[in-house]
Amino acid sequence: MLNFRNTNIFFGFVLLALIGVHIKYGMPWYVYPVLFMAWSLLVFWGCYYVGSGFFIRIVCKGPADKKQVAISFDDGPVVDYTREILQVLKEEKVKAAFFCIGNRIAGNEEILRQVHADGHLIGNHSYSHHFWFDMCSAKKMQSDLAMMNSEVERVIGRRPKLFRPPYGVTNPNVKKAIIGGGYTPIGWSVRSMDTVIKEDGKLLDKINAAIEPGAIFLFHDTSKTTLNVLPAFIKEVKKRGYTITPLDKLLDLQPYE
Ligand SMILES: [Zn+2]
Repeated sequence: MLNFRNTNIFFGFVLLALIGVHIKYGMPWYVYPVLFMAWSLLVFWGCYYVGSGFFIRIVCKGPADKKQVAISFDDGPVVDYTREILQVLKEEKVKAAFFCIGNRIAGNEEILRQVHADGHLIGNHSYSHHFWFDMCSAKKMQSDLAMMNSEVERVIGRRPKLFRPPYGVTNPNVKKAIIGGGYTPIGWSVRSMDTVIKEDGKLLDKINAAIEPGAIFLFHDTSKTTLNVLPAFIKEVKKRGYTITPLDKLLDLQPYE
């Protein structure tokens, strides 16, 4: 299995073999940086590809035997456009998951309360969502996640169990924080790229093309483009005979502590 531990063991053996060859027959020095580059590329892939399972297994997809998908929104609660998205979901009778940022809750308590009252799931997406989050120590990460959970508990009285790593980045410290806090890490199978794509048609084509059994869609409730295309997307999913299932039901997971 391709994971951090096995990769290190493999590269350790290769390094020892190369040193052996070097001593016995001689070898150009640049073989070592090339080996280090190969190791770095693999680790980089493991850190930045949420479905790699390189450091820790992250659930990114539901069962493929039923025509069910789940939709999720990251980075709220926000004035623009969490409420509008809730309205669309209500009209379409769809339940979604919201992976919220803790430091956005103060001042937006009413919005978070509405997310919960409307029957949507609230997950932990860290308190700070700091750009260098993945550079923090495991201890700092764990207290950041606990702080986020306390914010959610303050408003809705529940502590989320599902955690989506900021930027989808994992590493040994993120793994430790997840295990230490008893979280279930959740990824996605379809990254809508709605923070980058600004044309409605382009985004709609991209997400429609990705509808398949078990898919977990990642959107942002900060995206106007997502708000614009959401009704058409939900209608298309239903038209193709799929059900939009709440994330915890699709994955059969406990959403709160
Ligand atoms: Zn995020």
